[in-house]
Amino acid sequence: MPLIDMAMLVITGGKVEEWEKKLMDIFRKQAIPFFLINNKADLFRVTEEELKNLKEHWGTDVVNFSAKTREGLDEVIALMRKHTPENTYRQTSMLAGLIKPGDVVVLVTPIDSEAPEGRLILPQVQTIRDVLDNDGVAVVLKEDQTARFLRDNPIKPILVISDSQVILKTCKDVPENIPTTGFSILLAHYKGDFKNYLKGTPSLKNLKDGDKILILESCTHQVSCDDIGRVKIPRWISQFTNKKLSFRVVAGTEKIPDDISQYAMVIQCGGCVLTKRQIINRLKPAVEAGVPVSNYGMTIAFVNGVYDRVIQPFIRKDEEKNE
Ligand code: SF4
Repeated sequence: MPLIDMAMLVITGGKVEEWEKKLMDIFRKQAIPFFLINNKADLFRVTEEELKNLKEHWGTDVVNFSAKTREGLDEVIALMRKHTPENTYRQTSMLAGLIKPGDVVVLVTPIDSEAPEGRLILPQVQTIRDVLDNDGVAVVLKEDQTARFLRDNPIKPILVISDSQVILKTCKDVPENIPTTGFSILLAHYKGDFKNYLKGTPSLKNLKDGDKILILESCTHQVSCDDIGRVKIPRWISQFTNKKLSFRVVAGTEKIPDDISQYAMVIQCGGCVLTKRQIINRLKPAVEAGVPVSNYGMTIAFVNGVYDRVIQPFIRKDEEKNE
């Protein structure tokens, strides 16, 4: 259910049974837009008056449809368009408000054992595309080229975006007056639960021996021996806290544990393959249970002591937006 952007509930003969009522309760609770399709309209047609009553009673659109004769298909498509949230299919810019046409953005992308053969990972590709969509100039470097490029080159980037795994080195290599952040933090601000990440991330310093951490990854990528979610983040958090912690990874569409309150923290990846609604709904049980939530990039920055610097570009942008 957390991965749904819009629901079409299929009924027959205008009858809404207990099961459908339960589903509608869940849709409302999770703010998932939905409408009802009265299928088999060739056999069990509902009159216009009944449709009107159903619509008023359930507070959403209801349409007669027949999968056999295709009657009502155009109306179903029109309602799909009406109820699907715009941000599901229309991408806004991740970098809007952060860069202007002609600005140079440096992207620091390590080519290590986790980098896929012959290509870049999706968050990096999406960021390059976003820079170009904003008529900016993307300079893509490996982490050992950053300091030299900034020292020897007259070009002054408006922003540096780094892979989270080398964020500490990037923050050391980039002068303090150049705004610097991470790909995962860019995604966290764009489509994550950024406000709750800001509230939850500092809880890393309150972790105690025996605490359990739930790690949420949104894809099922090939797991490497030094995997970010399974190896590196657990290692970095354990070193930072000096506590005995246990970690569980839930990946792809795997179900989130029901008893979320057993966890001391939930840490979500950048979620490049999900929509904002999907990420927010996936984290909702934790937020409602009062479990602190964070994101990969923000957690890595926090345990590396560069958190305040890398969230700064977004804090400033959000403040300007609210002025
Ligand atoms: S879904 Fe998450 S783990 Fe997978 S590539 Fe995207 S940000 Fe990384």
